[in-house]
Amino acid sequence: MNPELFPEDIRPYIIPKPEGKLFYRCLGCSAEFPIEKLLYVCPDCNQVLLIHDKNQAALTRHSGATWQKIFDFRKMLKIPALKGIYRFHEFIGSCIPLSSIVYLGEGHTPIVEASTHLKEKTGLNFFYKNDGQNPSASFKDRGMASALSSIKYLIDQNLVSDVIAVCASTGDTSAAAALYASYLRPLIKSAVLLPHKKVTAQQLSQPLGSGANVFEIPGVFDDCMKIVEHLSSLYPVVLLNSKNAWRILGQESYSYEIAQDFDWDMKNKVVVVPIGNAGNISAVMNGFLKFHRAGIITHLPKIIGVQSEHADPVFQYYLEPDENKRLFKPVNTRPSVAQAAMIGNPVSMPRVIEIAKRYNQTSCQQNTFFVQVSEQSIMDWQLTANRNGHITCTQGGECLAGLVKAAAQGIVTQQETAILDATAHAIKFSEFQDLYFKQQIPDAYGIRSDSDYINLPDFISTDDPNLVPSQEKRLEKKEFQQFVQEISGKIAKKLNL
Ligand SMILES: *Cc1c(COP(=O)(O)O)cnc(C)c1O
Ligand SMILES: [Zn+2]
Repeated sequence: MNPELFPEDIRPYIIPKPEGKLFYRCLGCSAEFPIEKLLYVCPDCNQVLLIHDKNQAALTRHSGATWQKIFDFRKMLKIPALKGIYRFHEFIGSCIPLSSIVYLGEGHTPIVEASTHLKEKTGLNFFYKNDGQNPSASFKDRGMASALSSIKYLIDQNLVSDVIAVCASTGDTSAAAALYASYLRPLIKSAVLLPHKKVTAQQLSQPLGSGANVFEIPGVFDDCMKIVEHLSSLYPVVLLNSKNAWRILGQESYSYEIAQDFDWDMKNKVVVVPIGNAGNISAVMNGFLKFHRAGIITHLPKIIGVQSEHADPVFQYYLEPDENKRLFKPVNTRPSVAQAAMIGNPVSMPRVIEIAKRYNQTSCQQNTFFVQVSEQSIMDWQLTANRNGHITCTQGGECLAGLVKAAAQGIVTQQETAILDATAHAIKFSEFQDLYFKQQIPDAYGIRSDSDYINLPDFISTDDPNLVPSQEKRLEKKEFQQFVQEISGKIAKKLNL
């Protein structure tokens, strides 16, 4: 839609101007640093950072209702830079000019209502937000669009050049990083570190296809992360893990989209996310807090973070009810089908602690909850969701298992509506489905295949080996007719037709 046709009161604001004054603030000592420096932890105390905007006046310039109107009309623009996460430019990366924004189709992912059968089976009202429908098939593209736009911005200002971007990954970060970096070739080269045999074949093929340097390292994700941290402390590389505060900023768009899709009404809503490195849940809470502060939403939705019993350091931390007695201890992970969340020492733990505290304070009640689920329930709920028309990954199965568990614990009621994060596309994790169907999931996962869910292809052929067509040997007309009849008959019998 032509901006000239937009209502007069919001027309001057439809195309955002890069007027934000962003800076990093340390979560440990509150020191502030300019974003023009490549910085991932505080140089003084080594703690993680978050990005803030000094130009708060720009965010309070409009009433909540006016912001809503701006975002709703902005949705009709045809400008690529404003179609994805930067529809919420003022809240996402307000210093970045549209010319530096990298847009590969991320964000604006669909919110799909749970099928009737699935709602009946769970007795709950919920939707899946299909973040697997992002360009590299996971939510990581949101944060990556933000991180790469910030780098492009620094390159465009001649503040950095010859960038080498690195990340450690449980699979999806590397796919996203490699994709966005390759789009900016030759300005950026990327290298990704993956735990050997701890990512799926599909996830491994993604950074290879994007032309990244791919390194496989023995051990688990937490080991790769330490190497990447060491590299980034020694060499001038750009770190693309969620330690990078730009990643968090971009992922906040997930909350903004939920708010908009429910017409800004967050009353009686519950947002369920799986937790791995804890970047996503930090961003999701922070996003809702920012919209609440600006008056764009009047209620903060309930947040439920879900972890597998095989990788549950955040859940363990919050088991202690007394805030002052809580002590964070990394855990050793065990094999998990929610492999993208199989992290024992989450980098964003300090962010979770700080933001969850503010979230509960602002809500005037406990509004963040953490639940732990079994590997069996993750797998069974993923398969159940997908048998009922959804396309969720194992981590999305983890969300549904978590919602069901939370309902059993009285944390969620039937009066509420939940939004579950299908963090990646089902096909990225189809290996686990294959293993389940073939009853070959290794013992260490602690999962038994339920025959109700198993689905395997049925090979149907003719009894007479001479009646079998192949690419080399085509059948004569009469034989072919016999072949078609025999096979059709067998299928009809199987289907009780
Ligand atoms: C990265 C990832 C997670 C975990 O998100 P964090 O931000 O690390 O907590 C969950 N699911 C999928 C599919 C992921 O790629
Ligand atoms: Zn500090």
